[in-house]
Amino acid sequence: MPGTRILIRNGQVIDTEPEPVVLPHTDVLIEDGRIAAVGAGLLSDGATVVDATDRIVLPGFVDTHRHVWQSALRGAAVDVDLGAYLGILARYGPKFGPQDVYTATLAGALECLDSGITTQLDYSHISYSPEHADAAIDALGAAGLRAVYGYGTPVTGGGSLDDVRRIRGERLADDQARVTMAYAPLGPSFAPVEVVAGEWQVADALDLRVTFHVAATPVSPRPISALREAGLLREKILYVHGNTLADDELNLIADSGATASAAPGAEAMLGNNSPVAGRLRRLGVTTGLGVDAVTSAPGDMFSLMRATLLAGQIADDARMTCADVLKMATLDGAAALGLADRTGSLRPGKHADVVLLRLDDINMLSAERDPIAAVVTAAHPHNVDTVLVAGQVVKSGGRLVHADLGRVTRELRETARKVAGR
Ligand SMILES: [Zn+2]
Repeated sequence: MPGTRILIRNGQVIDTEPEPVVLPHTDVLIEDGRIAAVGAGLLSDGATVVDATDRIVLPGFVDTHRHVWQSALRGAAVDVDLGAYLGILARYGPKFGPQDVYTATLAGALECLDSGITTQLDYSHISYSPEHADAAIDALGAAGLRAVYGYGTPVTGGGSLDDVRRIRGERLADDQARVTMAYAPLGPSFAPVEVVAGEWQVADALDLRVTFHVAATPVSPRPISALREAGLLREKILYVHGNTLADDELNLIADSGATASAAPGAEAMLGNNSPVAGRLRRLGVTTGLGVDAVTSAPGDMFSLMRATLLAGQIADDARMTCADVLKMATLDGAAALGLADRTGSLRPGKHADVVLLRLDDINMLSAERDPIAAVVTAAHPHNVDTVLVAGQVVKSGGRLVHADLGRVTRELRETARKVAGR
């Protein structure tokens, strides 16, 4: 918004770059959708002033791996293992028409904004047709959050490289736009290496980041080594999970300069093996957090940070601090997506993706003594008072301001009933 100035005044500001730090009684000035200054006593000079007394002010959260269309399947895959989860996706996914994909993606994206997630990678493995893919892209645009649309192969097969080329060429060509593109194929754990090589060729030609689930599987017990032997290690890869990979495989990821997404909630619920977030960090892989699947795990970053912190305490690794976890949820997540130049911290020049949490809610009273600890151990989506994406207010006074919220709410319920066969 050219010409607009917003001054967020007198907050308990948490910045995350280079490391999380608390700046008491600090102002954040936003100009033309970007962070202009962070400091005490900034002049309002005609800006719209937002009083942040009794507020924590921090960068928006970054969800690096989420199947957003699954918002219509909440809780559909709990108390089951990964195989049963995939069976549930295979059963319900084909029932989604393009309009259902639009509704579920928009509702899922609004759920993100409501809880302070301002950036997400949508691993959209619901690309049964070009219309399905277009619907997901349209919904991410309509939601108003920062998103990386990951064109994904449905678990029952489908999708096409031609459609990847079409979308890159015609819809998501601009890597500076609010919605950008990645490619989300099956990858080496689930497809033969010759197939992977063909997919990587397309990704290279289109200059797309590639993201996929990775694990030791019967197809490839050592998938990262297999990629190396085939000359397919790349810097622009976002590996997801990797719990069952040995340290030397994770070292190959680190050495290649690629990044990772850990999803401790879904990984624990679906029995992916022991937590991997701490191990990835220890081995030097830039690692963000991912909700992954609301079929099986909570959909907000507070729950996910808690899962990361608690899983880290029992894992056979150096313990992660609250600051470590908050950094994964913000700056490291942005870096994992290749978006650290524009989000993940409050550094001047970045887009103003900002969250205000209420310190005067009953569960946050006295949190001023350590706001970082409070955000990671105590806060929940109800505390999210105000959310801005690139300086645009998308939540204010605890309420989403999206014009279609009522309609989306109705239609999401209809889609959920339809795909469940009721
Ligand atoms: Zn996933």
